[in-house]
Amino acid sequence: MAEFLPYGRQSVTDEDIAAVTEVLRGDWLTTGPAVTQFEADLAEHTGGTPAVAVTSGTAALHVAYAAAGIGTGDEVLTTPMTFVATASTAALLGATIVFADVDADTANLSPAAVEAAMTSRTKVVAAVDYAGHPAELDELARIAHASGALLLEDAAHSVGGTWQGRPVGSIADLTTLSFFPTKNLTTAEGGAVATPSEELLAGARGFRNHGLVRDKAAQRFPDEGAWHQEVHEFGLNYRLPDVLCALGSSQLRRLDEFKKRRARIHARYNEAFADLDGVLTPVTRAGADPAWHLYPLRVLDGRRRAMFDSLRGIGIGVQVNYIPAYWHPVFADLGYQRGMCPNAELYYSQELSLPLFPSLTDTDVERVIAGVRGFFGES
Ligand SMILES: *Cc1c(COP(=O)(O)O)cnc(C)c1O
Repeated sequence: MAEFLPYGRQSVTDEDIAAVTEVLRGDWLTTGPAVTQFEADLAEHTGGTPAVAVTSGTAALHVAYAAAGIGTGDEVLTTPMTFVATASTAALLGATIVFADVDADTANLSPAAVEAAMTSRTKVVAAVDYAGHPAELDELARIAHASGALLLEDAAHSVGGTWQGRPVGSIADLTTLSFFPTKNLTTAEGGAVATPSEELLAGARGFRNHGLVRDKAAQRFPDEGAWHQEVHEFGLNYRLPDVLCALGSSQLRRLDEFKKRRARIHARYNEAFADLDGVLTPVTRAGADPAWHLYPLRVLDGRRRAMFDSLRGIGIGVQVNYIPAYWHPVFADLGYQRGMCPNAELYYSQELSLPLFPSLTDTDVERVIAGVRGFFGES
């Protein structure tokens, strides 16, 4: 049988490997100059918005919510069409998670649903750029800011993309990224928080590094001695090591190339499925230039599971993104009910992510297309 095709995978070159081994031979494995360099390189892709490198996309969300001051009694309003970390990291800080429904076509948070769900306790609206397509960021920012809340953009899928001509990472109050191997670039595990706010940036840097205060001017006991450092607020160790930051800087050099290849495959899938009655292909809103992370095909007439099994059976590693977050037993046990966000639930019941990654060859792409068309008895 033909080789198994995953739905996503990293693209690592000899230059990436050389960048990593150079750091391994040097003095700084962590907390060194490659971290500062990676953060500066990232900012070139976020319209100059400063970034803080952390150990994962999940850590980035935890850091961002902590910087926003999320705690018990606060509400975080988010989408169910996401990986659970968008919600769970806020829940761990004591927040109540409120889910608003998505637009039926993009699976991105619906501004109207967000507006209806805002309360005086809403402190953060957390949108996800589903599949790489930017959410309705201007509308969501307007709604959040009108109530004194912040807009957080979980851009785990979308770094490299633009919205109304502005790069992802330059729009929301807080943007979080993930560098997991299937994402748009990788550091093996890794993530980042970007923010234009000096206060949020300081909060993010603090939470990443135990809340340690080394600046004498900010210390409560500055005359203790040169060794002295203080903790003013609790934090964690979420530092991304130099070894992985070097991989990140090297990968960033190919981010545009990755985006182009992903866009080409996406366009070819759209074209190849346009005449099929049994599926819907993803939409692109005016003003969006997505860095596509997923190709979310929608399979109609209750046939998603059958197509999943059929494609897996011929070695095509399709995936489903995502089970509505509040269906997870951890939310169900807290009383969240099915039926709450009908658009998200319908989208989930139809969604099938096809293989999409830069090193997918044209032959692989045609094999996926033949698999999907063959399911419907079409050539
Ligand atoms: C991958 C992902 C995360 C978590 O990132 P990790 O780096 O795997 O921790 C969060 N949100 C979304 C939308 C993701 O796709």
